[in-house]
This record gives sequence, C-alpha cells and structure tokens, in this order.
Amino acid sequence: MIIVMLGAPGSGKGTASERLKKDLNLMHISTGNMLREQIKMGTELGMKAKEYMDAGELVPDEVIINMVKAVINSKEAANGVLLDGFPRTVPQAEALKEFGVNVDIALNIDVPNEEIVERMGKRRCCDKCGATYSLDFKPPKEEGKCDTVGCSGNIIQRDDDKPETVRARLEVYEKQTKPIAEFYKAQDKLYNAKAGDKAGKNTYQVVDEFEEFISKKS
Ligand code: AMP
Repeated sequence: MIIVMLGAPGSGKGTASERLKKDLNLMHISTGNMLREQIKMGTELGMKAKEYMDAGELVPDEVIINMVKAVINSKEAANGVLLDGFPRTVPQAEALKEFGVNVDIALNIDVPNEEIVERMGKRRCCDKCGATYSLDFKPPKEEGKCDTVGCSGNIIQRDDDKPETVRARLEVYEKQTKPIAEFYKAQDKLYNAKAGDKAGKNTYQVVDEFEEFISKKS
C-alpha cells in the first residue's frame, strides 16, 4: 500500500505517520527528516537544502525527486510506503507516477492556519531520530530527552518552526502544496480529515477513522 500524507506544516502529519507506519507496517519516507539528516552530516546536498529550509521555502524539485527515487524502490519499501512531506508540488506528484509508484490513497489533515501557528510554537523534535513532540499534548517523558527506545537524542525546536519561518512556510503551502490535494481528489484518491480544536478532533482520532476507512476499502 502506498499512502501519501498531506497537510500544512504542523498539521500532525509526522505524528500520524509514526502511528500509521507501525500499525500498517509501512516504510516511512519523510523528505524533511532525510534533508535534516543530510544537514547533520554536512553533505553538499544538506548545505544547499538548508538555505531553502531556513527561509521557509521548498527545496528544488530536482533535488527532492532524486533523493526519493533512491529509496522508493528499495527492498524495505516492498511491503508499502508512507510518504510524509512528499510530493509537495505537482511536478513531484507527477514524478512519483513516472517512477511507477501507484498511490493508493492520500490522507489530507486539514487544520485551520491560526491553530497551526499556535501549535508550531509548541512543537519540538528529536535532533537524532526526528520523532516529534508537543509541549502541550505529547511532551517527552523525561524533559529534553527523546522517548524512542535506543535513542538518546535531545529535544529541540527546529529552526524552521520559529514564527517568522512558519508564516513563510504556510504561504508556500497554500500556493504550492494545496493543489496536490486537488491532484489526488481528481483521481478519487483523497481522504480529507478536518482536525484540530475547532473540528474537535485530534491526530489520533483522525488516524483511527482513516485506518477504519482503509480496512473497509481493502
Ligand atoms: P517537513 O519536515 O516535511 O516540514 O520539511 C521541512 C522543510 O524541508 C520544508 O519546509 C522544505 O523546505 C523542505 N522539504 C521537505 N520535503 C520537501 C519536498 N517534498 N519538496 C521540497 N522541499 C521539501
């Protein structure tokens, strides 16, 4: 099964992905985590990507497409893949099709922008494994330390989660990424979930309902 995770930055894609990959035994491909890994290793790709990421902009399609191409057809992906943060532009969605990857369903987590900005201020992540936390509803068990078994990473705020960058990222999302939902809707592959305080639904409830939906579908 190939699932695409859609939604604005901070909509809960990462948290939902953590659950879905375990429940459905899928390979989790997070392009954001892959890029942060490259930055940590100090590679040329990482240094180039960092400039775009710090400005809240998207990394060029060509860089991302090549990066995903290298892993999407690997052995680990044989049981299925959860694509988190990719595709983020229509050319990336088209490239995925060209790789011969047939998306089964796209889960769009739809949270109002004002809630996103508030959430992002409270979002934290592990500097080692990339696991996400929220100071509000999912704090680490031990302050400042990652909960993941075998990981001793530190909990940090991502540079691109600072308020000015968040606003730039939301603008980019509206312009470049929102059309992807339409792309999958036109193919009858979109599952849209309204979430957040106003909708009265948290990320885990969204995942529960989505899993029920796909189990009925298959
Ligand atoms: P994320 O962790 O998915 O929110 O991604 C963090 C940042 O990495 C984004 O704001 C972009 O700058 C970059 N990035 C991640 N995935 C992509 C992608 N598919 N296309 C372009 N840029 C990306």
